[in-house]
Amino acid sequence: MKSLSLSATRLSTYQRCPKSYELKFLKKVPGAPVKAPLLGQILHQALAEVYRWPAWRGVPSLAVVQDHWNEAIKKHPELTNDLCTEGWRMLQDYHARQIAPLAQWREPVGVEGRIEGELTVDQVTFKLTGRYDRLDCLTTGNTQAVLHLVDYKTSRQQQSLPELERDLQLGLYQLALEQRYGQVLQTVSHIYLRTGDVVSFEASAAQKALALEKIQALARDMLHREQFEAKTGKHCRSCDARQYCDTFTETPKAYAPKPSVGVQLSLA
Ligand code: SF4
Repeated sequence: MKSLSLSATRLSTYQRCPKSYELKFLKKVPGAPVKAPLLGQILHQALAEVYRWPAWRGVPSLAVVQDHWNEAIKKHPELTNDLCTEGWRMLQDYHARQIAPLAQWREPVGVEGRIEGELTVDQVTFKLTGRYDRLDCLTTGNTQAVLHLVDYKTSRQQQSLPELERDLQLGLYQLALEQRYGQVLQTVSHIYLRTGDVVSFEASAAQKALALEKIQALARDMLHREQFEAKTGKHCRSCDARQYCDTFTETPKAYAPKPSVGVQLSLA
């Protein structure tokens, strides 16, 4: 089986520079290790527990949030006092903005969940997988239920994804969630815990059709490509694979190719 793994990041990397895609995702050259900061991990754990609170018990009070925060930090004694104070401040602020004003508590469809779906391009079925922090189902009056996907961010600044990558990611979420739940994804929101800012992206049918067209075109191109040519530009400066790229440097580092893992399309 031809080995290919895709995602919104991978698709946009491929469009920017096929060689970079080949080095990073097919040959898997070593890049900078990516590990979520500890405070972010603990905040995610505490919020996941808060959103497991049952609806019949009403809107969670700040004391409920504090209990889950205390439980989460107990498992990480290495967290410094300063970070502890900072994290609790973020959760207090989150409760004041996002929880206390609610008239009614509704349990989400899922917390820290996994999304799975399929997409077939030229008789090759790609598996769609991804993760989310929270998935809500919204109903207003008699209108059809819609889905709202939420991700928590702990970065100091709002990080805007490049437009293409954001569109591809939204399109992939739409495809997979509609297959899984038979319901339409209406919005993706990024909640910035440090500032309380919420950045939302609407997921329309037109946007989905456009994203699907782009995803299929890129996936088809990748499937049938024999050579992954280099496209140089400003993006080379931030390319993780530049040390291994014989176009960027005359003395590229050597690497050992990794074994293939099968065809898969992921969302993040
Ligand atoms: S350094 Fe530039 S040309 Fe080389 S792989 Fe990276 S983006 Fe492509």
